[in-house]
Amino acid sequence: MYPQHPQLPGQQPQEKHARLHTFWGKGFSKALKSKVCIIGCGSLGSSTALAMAKIGIPKLTLVDRDFVEPENLATQQYTEPQIGLPKAIALSIEAKKASPYIEVHEMVEDFNTENAEQIISSHDLVIDGTDNFETRLIINETCVKLAIPYVFGSVIKNQGMAALFDDKICMQCVFRNPPRRPETCDISGVSSEAVSTAASLQVSEAMKCLTGGKKSGQLLSFNLSINDFTVSKMKQNPQCRVCKQRQFSRLEDKQKRATVLCGRNSVQILPEKAVDVKALEEKIKKTDSGSGIELLNSNMFLLRFRKKPYTFNLFNNGRCIIQGTNDESKAKSLYSRYIGN
Ligand SMILES: [Zn+2]
Repeated sequence: MYPQHPQLPGQQPQEKHARLHTFWGKGFSKALKSKVCIIGCGSLGSSTALAMAKIGIPKLTLVDRDFVEPENLATQQYTEPQIGLPKAIALSIEAKKASPYIEVHEMVEDFNTENAEQIISSHDLVIDGTDNFETRLIINETCVKLAIPYVFGSVIKNQGMAALFDDKICMQCVFRNPPRRPETCDISGVSSEAVSTAASLQVSEAMKCLTGGKKSGQLLSFNLSINDFTVSKMKQNPQCRVCKQRQFSRLEDKQKRATVLCGRNSVQILPEKAVDVKALEEKIKKTDSGSGIELLNSNMFLLRFRKKPYTFNLFNNGRCIIQGTNDESKAKSLYSRYIGN
């Protein structure tokens, strides 16, 4: 059964779906009933989301805490007019343009231990678009706990990896001691070719899982600089504390209020109580120019203002990304001084 095109009622199935059906076999009908969650809408997440939309996956959830910045345009699927929009919103617009008949649920949220289970539950598959191992291990614990397959992906410079994890082999089995401060795209940079290669591998693993129930077992890695493509066999760790002992220690950790965003000279602060963002905007507009507080721009999702050398990016729910510092306590005190709680 194919979804209806809203502007072209009665037109089904689309020709491309008929072709994909031949390619993927009977399992494609199952994929066309699935619900996929993509966590992180940066370089990998924005590429995998558009690919899944174009394939026709009928329900996509896009989760991202950030907004589009000019430096994202080179490797992420955003356009200049979208600068300043939350990435989840901008990507949802692009996904619906690519496939107007699918449902896209956008979540402008920080994915963390408090909301992980609520965000991931009710999906058939999770795709990793994040840029750090700590968040990936939280996704991994949640997916093992809820028995939902997870397609991991990572990319740095000209290299990348992808793998499908499930209750037979989980990320903790394979990456037992992830680096505390691993390289990130923000520090080391990433090539758009590596992004599209890793994203294609993720989409391919995701589709094999959705159409045929493919199980975990292979880690795919590549280095485009030396044309190296490697398939490694993964094994379950018989002592794995996540998938064997079912201990979910990361999920049980209380969420920190302040988080340094690695490589970006920024700190994210979660609110302690509700913030009236509109009232704050009005207050800033009336503020004397001698105060040094400058309103940069605002839209229905985000208010941006500056008090040199800091820039405040305040989302509707009170979450704020403060640019200009890597110091969590400094950021917390800036938040209470200029936002109020
Ligand atoms: Zn495991």
